[in-house]
Amino acid sequence: MSQPIRFVGNDDEASLEEVSQNVLVAPFDRVLDSLDGIYNWGRKNSIWPVQFGLACCAIEMICMAASRFDIDRFGAGLFRATPRQADLMIVSGTVTKKMVPNIVRLYNQMPEPRYVLSMGACATGGGPFKEGYNVVSGIDRFIPVDVYVAGCPPTPQALLNGLVELQKLIDSQKIRENRWYQKDYRGEIPVPVLGPDLLDQRRFDELKKISAAQLAALKAAAAAPAGAAATPSAAAAAPAAGAPPAKAPKRTPEELAALKAANAARRQATMVDVRKPEDTESKS
Ligand code: SF4
Repeated sequence: MSQPIRFVGNDDEASLEEVSQNVLVAPFDRVLDSLDGIYNWGRKNSIWPVQFGLACCAIEMICMAASRFDIDRFGAGLFRATPRQADLMIVSGTVTKKMVPNIVRLYNQMPEPRYVLSMGACATGGGPFKEGYNVVSGIDRFIPVDVYVAGCPPTPQALLNGLVELQKLIDSQKIRENRWYQKDYRGEIPVPVLGPDLLDQRRFDELKKISAAQLAALKAAAAAPAGAAATPSAAAAAPAAGAPPAKAPKRTPEELAALKAANAARRQATMVDVRKPEDTESKS
């Protein structure tokens, strides 16, 4: 025989006890904090790396994904062939200037939350090719890096260790503080333009001014010897055909200082750090 339905008042001690045991009444912030654990547990155990490699380090990355090391046990074995379905970029190999625009473009195409792992000496600081004309000295000058893995090349075990560090980082994040939920967060990074060197799109006006100043200085320098050669004494001093070329006139200290300043400005204007302060702040 079924029990009759019993109505109780709000002041009934039994009903209050039952409510306190079965209903969570808490401020919204506390609810979000308790959700962090579930949210982060899901994300850290289902990392999807984007499938691309740059140089020899990529071979070690492929080894790590193979059966001997079994990245699948960390839930990160599903390398995606498109950045739009990936949340981890492993920069594995030497980063050349030619590749930087493509790497930044891939990064921009990844949805948030996204992470970057810099694998090996080359990706982190240029490695043995640091002084090369075509190599950048670290991918973190262009995109924010979350985890660095040392070595040339790092072993698959080292890369797995980097992955575990990334999992710890994900586990420590909070929904309320995550950068991609902030109102003013703009994750897109301007793609550098490959010209004579890498140029920062945001500094085109400045670059134009520097180029115009350099052009004017070159024109002035070209005009000066022509005027000097027109004088009879200069024509007389001109070397005969076959004679060794005359030494360039010695520059005054002021001219040398101006030349150094122009070169420094040119260096500053090219290969610039395209990260914004807000991008770097998010680095843990
Ligand atoms: S760090 Fe060493 S192994 Fe890795 S890409 Fe550079 S040279 Fe190759």
